[in-house]
Amino acid sequence: MSPRPYTIEALEQVLTFADQEHPELVMTKPSLMNMMKQAGYKTYWITNQQTLTKRNTMLTTFSKQMDVQKYMNNSRAQNSREYDENVFAPFQEALNDSAKRKFIVIHLLGTHMKYDYRYPESFEKFKGDDGLDKKFNDSQLAYINSYDNAVLYNDFVVSELINFTKKQDSRSLLVYFSDHGEDVYDSPPHEMLGRNEGRPTTPMYTVPFMIWESNQWKSTDGRDFSKFTNRPYSTSHFIYTWADLVGITFKDFDATKSLVSNAFTKHPLLIGDPEAKGKLQEIHQ
Ligand SMILES: [Zn+2]
Repeated sequence: MSPRPYTIEALEQVLTFADQEHPELVMTKPSLMNMMKQAGYKTYWITNQQTLTKRNTMLTTFSKQMDVQKYMNNSRAQNSREYDENVFAPFQEALNDSAKRKFIVIHLLGTHMKYDYRYPESFEKFKGDDGLDKKFNDSQLAYINSYDNAVLYNDFVVSELINFTKKQDSRSLLVYFSDHGEDVYDSPPHEMLGRNEGRPTTPMYTVPFMIWESNQWKSTDGRDFSKFTNRPYSTSHFIYTWADLVGITFKDFDATKSLVSNAFTKHPLLIGDPEAKGKLQEIHQ
């Protein structure tokens, strides 16, 4: 689960030691990007999110902590048509770089609004109301279908990123997850579209999370994570999982916060604005 239903607020915790109980650590402790650089990796930030608007300042700061930055989306309007295949060329370029160790962050637009600007016509598969267990009006149906098409296109983009990595035939690990979820008339009474931290619903917080390993990685790592797939986890603790996955240890490493550790323990899944008094609440799964 994501701790926050908003891009920047979620990533400030995902990519640093900050979490819902210690949001201030975003400014006072090193980030995941700093960590990988210190560990000797050449670091790349490839983004298809807009970087020109003021709201993205924190993400721009993160990107500047890397060796190489590729900003693929220079639109000023949030609702402009951009496809995530924009990242394919710079990703392949980074993969072909001769640096010995590489750490590549790709920030996709994914299925952020406006959904029908996120996929080309060839991905317009969902149109009618087949398979929906409830009657929606035409406007709702249009949102549901364009969201599903955007998810389908996102699946294609992620599978291509895995294919490019696979073709390298090197010791590689790829982790994919979403910054947050989205409620597209999913939760009863099926009237909510988007995200609202003040009126939280499960679909705003549940996210896909997957780990892909190349054969070389598998043969040298040997850990089996398949028995961990039901662990309740907040991506606010991702930095511990990542460090554990790539074999980095440090003084404050907390194995109980690593999704892939045998020492993992359940921590409260906290949502709400951590800067507002009394707003944190625990999700029970
Ligand atoms: Zn987002």
